[in-house]
Amino acid sequence: MTRVLLLATTTGYQTRAFGEAAERLGVDLVFATDRCHLIEDPWQDHAIPIRFYDEDASVAAIVQVAKARPIDGVLVVGDLPTVIGARVAQAFGLPGHPPEAAAIARHKQLTRERLRDAGLPVPWFFPVAIDPQSSALSPQPSALDRAPLTYPCIVKPVALSGSRGVMRADDPSTFRAALERLRALMRTREVRAERNEAHDTVLVEGFIPGREYAVEGLLHRGALNVLAIFDKPDPLDGPFFEETIYVTPSSAPADVQTRIVSTVASAADAIGLHHGPVHAECRVNPSTGSGQAEVFVLEVAARPIGGLCARALRLQSAISNPQSAISLEELLLRHALGENPGAWRRESDASGVMMIPIPRRGIFRGVQGIDAARQAPGVEDVLITAKVDQLLLPLPEGASYLGFIFARADRAAGVEQALRTAHARLAFAIDPEFPVLTEAPV
Ligand code: ADP
Repeated sequence: MTRVLLLATTTGYQTRAFGEAAERLGVDLVFATDRCHLIEDPWQDHAIPIRFYDEDASVAAIVQVAKARPIDGVLVVGDLPTVIGARVAQAFGLPGHPPEAAAIARHKQLTRERLRDAGLPVPWFFPVAIDPQSSALSPQPSALDRAPLTYPCIVKPVALSGSRGVMRADDPSTFRAALERLRALMRTREVRAERNEAHDTVLVEGFIPGREYAVEGLLHRGALNVLAIFDKPDPLDGPFFEETIYVTPSSAPADVQTRIVSTVASAADAIGLHHGPVHAECRVNPSTGSGQAEVFVLEVAARPIGGLCARALRLQSAISNPQSAISLEELLLRHALGENPGAWRRESDASGVMMIPIPRRGIFRGVQGIDAARQAPGVEDVLITAKVDQLLLPLPEGASYLGFIFARADRAAGVEQALRTAHARLAFAIDPEFPVLTEAPV
């Protein structure tokens, strides 16, 4: 039986979608997930237990298992295991992204350097070291005095994702406050548990004005197949950068779309990515004056779009029965097993997803209006992923959403409208974290 190795954080929505796709294709899926080997298969998925922070041991453990149960392809979900996945693919001579390229792709400073060296547009940037033991920032010379610091600027971690820790500063005092806040986040137990040296550095860079787009693609032996360009219709101007709506097809002018695709392809090439899924984020600067949009690639991740958002994408074959659309996960499995994705196109409907942002810190008590939201025209589904009584943390510290809304329509504008209508029908109950005294204590 054909066998594909899937590296993932834990068993979640996307791993389930991979499971369904594997069943359809008759493929045996072997999981390798981040967990302690002392816990006896807690999710009953027979996963190979690995530790993402210990890449050598993880590769060795997987290679050991795969010698007895040979694998024909490797897939990765999430940023953390991309290098392990690349190394396993390399160990078995399977096509994939080179491990060095996967490492650059998940490191924002290294990515910037590669793009700059390739002559691609990048903002000015410099790293600032944070001493994990000390409570003080230790930039030498002081970050505040450092050229080319101008405002507005962005401070961000070099190796977190989901906009965590990304903040805009407009002057020296907001810059100082943002750096302090970021330092506190980087010193939390949860971030340090990743044991990633990259977390000892943060990046300061110029703010790029403009519209933002995401590109979902599959590199096939160096050639980029674009599956979708997503518009992010909500302005992302800070001070924090929560992603909300993704809609495809893009409403950008054709020449802008062409530039987005060619710049993302050049960026992937500059990073050294070669074969496998890529998810790129870029901002298109409107004010060049040259008449041509300038595309700044913020990142090209060596993995597919995350979690539930992949549901916003369904693919149709130009060759076989055009009626039956497949999931992104099925296409990724086919590709991991060698199929050329060139024959697959995004289906013709417009579609989109809203990642429902956390409006404020507090305890989640529940939500009303789900049925009404689901009935909004064009809405396909509303899923609330926050758990009742869970502490909700908004950005820049938070790392989750309240849930997801999916919509489909003839045109992108209809999708956006459906998502906004459904969201307006939801009422979330969020209590303050500590009980508020309504009466004077006796
Ligand atoms: P992550 O990998 O955590 O998503 P990014 O570097 O992609 O981090 O930044 C997250 C978001 O922050 C981007 O999607 C964008 O909206 C905003 N952002 C990041 N860097 C810049 C920048 N230099 N200029 C303007 N916006 C930025």
